[in-house]
Amino acid sequence: MDPDRSARIRLAQLHLYVDNHINDQFLAPALTVVAAALLTRWLPVERVTIWAVVELAIIAIYITCYRRFRAAKVQVADERVWRRRIAWAHGAHMLSWSSIIVWGWVPGDAGNLMFTMMIHLGLVSLTAAMSNPHRRLLMSDMSIPIVALLAPPLLSAGGFNAGLALLGVFYCMLMLCVAFKIHGTTAEAIELRLRNEELISKLEHQARLDGLTGVANRSHLLATGNAEIRRASRFGHAMALLMLDIDHFKEINDTHGHLVGDRVLKAVSDACALAVRHCDCLGRLGGEEFAVILPETDLPSALAAAERLRETVAALQLHHREFPLKTTVSIGVAMLQAPGEPLAQLLHRADVAMYRAKNSGRNRVEAEVTAPMSDAGPEAVTA
Ligand code: GH3
Ligand code: MG
Ligand code: MG
Repeated sequence: MDPDRSARIRLAQLHLYVDNHINDQFLAPALTVVAAALLTRWLPVERVTIWAVVELAIIAIYITCYRRFRAAKVQVADERVWRRRIAWAHGAHMLSWSSIIVWGWVPGDAGNLMFTMMIHLGLVSLTAAMSNPHRRLLMSDMSIPIVALLAPPLLSAGGFNAGLALLGVFYCMLMLCVAFKIHGTTAEAIELRLRNEELISKLEHQARLDGLTGVANRSHLLATGNAEIRRASRFGHAMALLMLDIDHFKEINDTHGHLVGDRVLKAVSDACALAVRHCDCLGRLGGEEFAVILPETDLPSALAAAERLRETVAALQLHHREFPLKTTVSIGVAMLQAPGEPLAQLLHRADVAMYRAKNSGRNRVEAEVTAPMSDAGPEAVTA
């Protein structure tokens, strides 16, 4: 499996683990008080109180740890650090509860034995149910209770206690099997969810691109143009649009064939994509026509960008076999004139400017004639 995805799966598992365990904040303190109250039937109040206070402090620590994990919006790279922190904090809680089996032990008292064993089995069952999303944490959470089961025969040797410990170990193994089974299905569901998310974002990305050139397709270009017009209109900022058309492109197709024409289209769009800023949107309107949306750009900067694109394309040295393929573009520049101006109008004005460039001899940049919106001042825009 892709290591990046398996790391993301582990992080999702850690989230699920914490989501399960965060409910401890309601249950664990109450259970501590009840268990302590019952233990006073067999043990001195001071000893039980010390345990209850220590346990309540441990609960506060690990719940704080979970809350910090949730608030920190942990990244994949930090999963290991957080897993360790949680393993230590929650491990202290497991140790504290499992220790009851040792210090709460009253040899020969069947009631006491039943009670400590019941606490232990309850702890193991809850741990198996809540820790199963994360395999490593499940293992570390279960290790202390399993070891603690060796206490009865060690504290008081005898067949009965050994049998009891053996039964407990079998029970733990059964719980582990169930927990691993649930872990398997959970991991599968998480992986499926991540795969779906990856697939959807890939498809969404591809749906925005032009199949031949890899730049934005017409619908994405128009959507970006409309969004930028709304933004520029709201803040009274300038915005420019460039319309590019490859000169005499039909000749390339007619002379060398459509496949060579396609290669030229790709080479021109690649070069233009490298020549525009990161925030600009270059897209293919159709055929050999492209447009560039330039947010936050006034007329002089737009003209400079257009000139840079023209020079970039003219400098391309493309060949088909030994024949050089001459590529130039004619570019029309238009500025957003009024807040909320329809994109179609802006495109039309850039188109008119582009045709003036064609008629003036091609391989040129022409600007529309009217004054840009930014010249009117921000007051006029927000009014
Ligand atoms: P002008 O300088 O006036 O723009 O001349 P032109 O030859 O570039 O313009 P015209 O509109 O006459 O020709 C455009 C050509 O672009 C015609 C069409 O076959 C070709 N074309 C459109 N889309 C594609 C495409 O995806 N691949 C190829 N190879 N050619 C295309
Ligand atoms: Mg054309
Ligand atoms: Mg053309």
